[in-house]
Amino acid sequence: MILLDILPMIENQQRIYDVLKQNKKNNRMSHAYLFYGDEGVGKKEMAYALACLFYCEHKGCLSCETCKTILDGQHLNVSYIGVLDSKKLISKEQITDLQEEFSKTSLVEGPRIYIVDGIDTASASAQNSLLKFIEEPINHTPTIGIFIATDLANVVSTIVSRCSLIHFPSIEIKRLCKSLEALGTDSLDSSLASLITNNIEEAKGLLDTKGYFDAKEMFLQFLEIKNKKQAVLFFIENASKFTLDTVRLFFKWIMALYEDVFKIEDKEDLILTALYDKIVIYAKTDYPVLKKHFKLILDLYSKLNYNVSAKNIMHELITKLF
Ligand SMILES: [Zn+2]
Repeated sequence: MILLDILPMIENQQRIYDVLKQNKKNNRMSHAYLFYGDEGVGKKEMAYALACLFYCEHKGCLSCETCKTILDGQHLNVSYIGVLDSKKLISKEQITDLQEEFSKTSLVEGPRIYIVDGIDTASASAQNSLLKFIEEPINHTPTIGIFIATDLANVVSTIVSRCSLIHFPSIEIKRLCKSLEALGTDSLDSSLASLITNNIEEAKGLLDTKGYFDAKEMFLQFLEIKNKKQAVLFFIENASKFTLDTVRLFFKWIMALYEDVFKIEDKEDLILTALYDKIVIYAKTDYPVLKKHFKLILDLYSKLNYNVSAKNIMHELITKLF
């Protein structure tokens, strides 16, 4: 059994599953999902639980015969491919095999569901070949794709743009955040520091550094930008603060902000609760545009590892975003 081993679900998972169930109830299921987050936060288990939602007659109970078959990995219409230990990635062959399997007529009624665990390890061309699945039903049977990634920056934009994004927050972030608040750190500083380290001493130390102070000021000013003119002004006024260290902090927070925007329905689960008003404003932007911006931010963030100029990265961000 895949999921039942870890039941009861950890708190985060339970909330994500509740949101998915709610979507199902309101007929708002997507045909493609992208689950992302650190290792060990229950993404794979949730993929199977989500598959249950499409088949279970008891609203995804996870305990009826149908659910058990799915969770056991035995359901004929639910396929799974994961990273091969020998290669540490998902190969093109695995994807071709999956496509071949899907081209055959299904023996069982209902949607065909495929789970691709580790999409971020597949090459760009392998990922792109999966797009066909997302685009069209095969043999008139609806298909549901559930993609799982730890590093969203390695997922091609064409996939990100077509999926409903679901972030699995690391449990440590919330825990550390609460500990810092208990020590008297204000809510915003607690969440910002928790996004950078998972060590409480390091977090407290960070709050006293100039780098943190600069990055926080930059971040808060950035959230006020409403148009191109203000964006240019922001760039000029903050240019002296654009070092790799401050820009890295800034990007981690911006990414967390978008993650909160995507799950705004789940207020309990937000990290940057002190910025709730801003999150609400961001959430009013169209979903496809938000995803495009988020992907840009992820890509620029991963560029920061390649000895680039922090100033150039910020320039690219500002020009493309506003
Ligand atoms: Zn069930």
